[in-house]
Amino acid sequence: MSTILFIKIRAKFCAFVQGFFYFCVRKIHYVLLICTSMTCFVCGNKKYKEVNYNNHLNKKSLKAIAKGLLPLFEKFIPRSMNNIKKLALGRRYFHGTIRVCEICGHGYLVNPPNSCILTKYYKEAYWFHRSDIKQTDFAKNINFLSDYRAKQQIEILKKFCDISKIKKILEIGAGPANASLLLRHLTADSNINLFVYEPGAQWESYYGANNIVKIADYFPSETSIKFDYIHTSHWLEHTNNLDKTILEISNLLNTGAKVFVEVPNEEFYYWDLQIEDTPHLQFFTVKSLVMAFEKHGFNCLTSANYGISYLDRKNGQTPNEDNGNLSPNGFWIRALFEKK
Ligand SMILES: [Zn+2]
Repeated sequence: MSTILFIKIRAKFCAFVQGFFYFCVRKIHYVLLICTSMTCFVCGNKKYKEVNYNNHLNKKSLKAIAKGLLPLFEKFIPRSMNNIKKLALGRRYFHGTIRVCEICGHGYLVNPPNSCILTKYYKEAYWFHRSDIKQTDFAKNINFLSDYRAKQQIEILKKFCDISKIKKILEIGAGPANASLLLRHLTADSNINLFVYEPGAQWESYYGANNIVKIADYFPSETSIKFDYIHTSHWLEHTNNLDKTILEISNLLNTGAKVFVEVPNEEFYYWDLQIEDTPHLQFFTVKSLVMAFEKHGFNCLTSANYGISYLDRKNGQTPNEDNGNLSPNGFWIRALFEKK
């Protein structure tokens, strides 16, 4: 009897030691991460401020506390409550400190989720939440003609580029790929090839019906194709290693090829308001986005803010076609780069 008790106690002790060891390893890893990432990887500056993810002003309210507890109950939230389930998963995986450079304004999540969790999140939660966007909504290939965001993005491209010369288009994080479909439609060239990276499984038959080739779920992957144009809209802020991502983009482009980027703009009001952070890893300003691409051999052809400001949004305005225009404090950055 005493031998069995001894074995049980020893097993519990070993489990405790092992748990404590992994706890220490995780803490040491976090501290090392903080110590080794004191320099802004966009501009090299060492001055920064730190803000809390999901709670920029650090004020507690009943609503904030309730949202903070959501991850604990995620398993019990039914799939029918899409928005709340996604919020709970986002809160579980994306948290901690965001470090914001005081010179270029770039911010990044100091302790991001690992690649397995990111894959799981985008595959399962991200598009599940957006399951209201059904592929039947895009049937008969008409929606790209009325997608105001796609129209505004391609208008910018047309100002700086002869679109008739574009023959191979890649859209990363494409969803319905409306901007690429619009571009192909405007050039009226059936030889234009459209390629996408997109993890949302719901789009696969839609891509087949619209003659779009899906390369893989996630960028980058092995491919020998070179492109004349890469389109990214609200994708770059979800990537973990910004330098590596831009380098991979560059590797896929012919000289003179263009990259369009739209990301949220965190320069104005973003850190000064109680704004609900969406699960992002990178937080851009116009300055930081341009510097990040110039560092890797791109010319910036245009970069500016569009849409209403976060302050306007906080005061009840919603972004729509009428207020998606150029605006000094707008909360979207749209930029076009050319590979040298
Ligand atoms: Zn910086």
